[in-house]
Amino acid sequence: MQGLMMQQPLLVASLLTHAERHHGEQKIVSRRVEGDVHRYTYRQLAKRARRMANALGTLGVKRGERIGTLAWNGYRHMELYFAVSGSGSVLHTLNPRLHVDQLAYIIEHAEDRVLFFDLTFLPLIESVARRVKSPKVFVAMTDRAHMPQADDFGGMLMCYEDLIEQSDDVFEWPLLDENSASSLCYTSGTTGNPKGVLYSHRSTVLHTYAAALPDAMNCSARDVILPVVPMFHVNAWGLPYIACMVGAKLVFPGPALDGKSLYELIEQEQVTMSAGVPTVWQGLLAHVDALGATFSSMRRTVIGGAPCPTAMTDAFQNRHQVEVLHAWGMTELSPIGTICSFKAHQQSLPMPQRHALQAKQGRSLCGIDMRIVDANGDELPWDGESPGDLQVRGHWVTQQYFGADVVSPLCDGWFPTGDIATIDRDGFMQITDRSKDVIKSGGEWISSAAIENVAYLHPEVSMAVCIAARHPKWDERPLLLVVKKSGSELAGDELLSFFNGRVARWWTPDAVVFVETVPLGATGKVLKNQLRDQFGEYYLPA
Ligand code: AMP
Repeated sequence: MQGLMMQQPLLVASLLTHAERHHGEQKIVSRRVEGDVHRYTYRQLAKRARRMANALGTLGVKRGERIGTLAWNGYRHMELYFAVSGSGSVLHTLNPRLHVDQLAYIIEHAEDRVLFFDLTFLPLIESVARRVKSPKVFVAMTDRAHMPQADDFGGMLMCYEDLIEQSDDVFEWPLLDENSASSLCYTSGTTGNPKGVLYSHRSTVLHTYAAALPDAMNCSARDVILPVVPMFHVNAWGLPYIACMVGAKLVFPGPALDGKSLYELIEQEQVTMSAGVPTVWQGLLAHVDALGATFSSMRRTVIGGAPCPTAMTDAFQNRHQVEVLHAWGMTELSPIGTICSFKAHQQSLPMPQRHALQAKQGRSLCGIDMRIVDANGDELPWDGESPGDLQVRGHWVTQQYFGADVVSPLCDGWFPTGDIATIDRDGFMQITDRSKDVIKSGGEWISSAAIENVAYLHPEVSMAVCIAARHPKWDERPLLLVVKKSGSELAGDELLSFFNGRVARWWTPDAVVFVETVPLGATGKVLKNQLRDQFGEYYLPA
């Protein structure tokens, strides 16, 4: 039909082009793994991203191919966000906290063509390189002066800055199909092997628009944004894209995520908003409190990935006048689904009621719909009391995990989140429990099945059950419940040392409780809920 609007595809590169043309002088500050602070502008970011896009072409990378990154939050990672996705290949961010075997599995499954890495991860990359066949090229994200000697390498080792220098900065971002893939992130928040979630250009741009809105992360050109949430964890909750869209100054913390380093960076760069998991904020608050200091510029912080404790909301809002935005999301959702920001009539509620409200995970962004259902799949009322399985659907919700070997996770067109929640009359969702059998510790997943599998390798273990137990620092930690074989004298420490080298160190349970039996349901399945009721507070102070 004539007279309609222009048809421009929603593309990741258009966010960078916008930042370059309309916010070209805006700053990006990065703490580097090399130990210094790097500063440049969006204009320079765009120029170097184009050089890198040309370099990828020279390396023979084709559209749709996956390019892995194992890197902290920094400007080179940001360049790859746009160079890779913008040129039509798929940015695959890898989580360095995973065990090397899991990383190898994910890299092979994604068939990563090239693997970029920060110097910190050289030993990890060397172990990975010995285990995988797919990436033929490894690129150290540094300059020639800092290039490592890597003799025992499975593939070709290149230098990031060499690639940039040798490439032209003229590159036309291709007009891709907006439904083509832009990035890939694996999640262990499901049972079985980690699963890949493939984002499209369209889903990423729509998520960026919605997540930047005043009732969501409330970002503007006047902000100085510090993404503490890693760029390897669901695109740092979309903040690199959002910063480009709104033209905010960006501050990248690199590998230093302790309270002191974060506080110094926040004050030096006059950060106005930040985002991360509760564990990181605990470290920051402890440091600021020990100094008797407060924040001179920070106005709000997005807290998600795990429930935000009320004491943390209190500390930020009452002691430091930093507004807390409690958010809920998932890798499968790009990630943001809900944010807890008040409606007009809630603004004037008494403080205790507003705090109670902020313990909820909040209301849906436009573009995401949600519902709660019972065991039969029937929808439950939004009364704030009836808990049900939380399901979502929308523009940035996955419909199928990456790889042809998996069946669709959807139920009647809805994505089952594995979270149990209530929804109140105002549409505020609150997570009350979890039906999926995983543990979230410091914002990262631990597979209880993987822990149980290791325990079963021990010859004196008759039955092993791993549950999530509440923890004052990490939100949750794995607790292992074990029935020993008859006559066994196995001690807890002995069993825990059996985990050395078999799983990532931080996956190892903090304690073993030996039990006589474990409760089983009618189908012979372990009743983990009962065990969580009994032992779920094991790590909390009495
Ligand atoms: P991930 O895919 O690693 O981002 O993890 C998503 C899962 O983390 C959700 O399904 C929830 O189980 C949990 N989660 C995320 N945000 C919150 C929150 N604010 N409160 C409670 N659980 C959360």
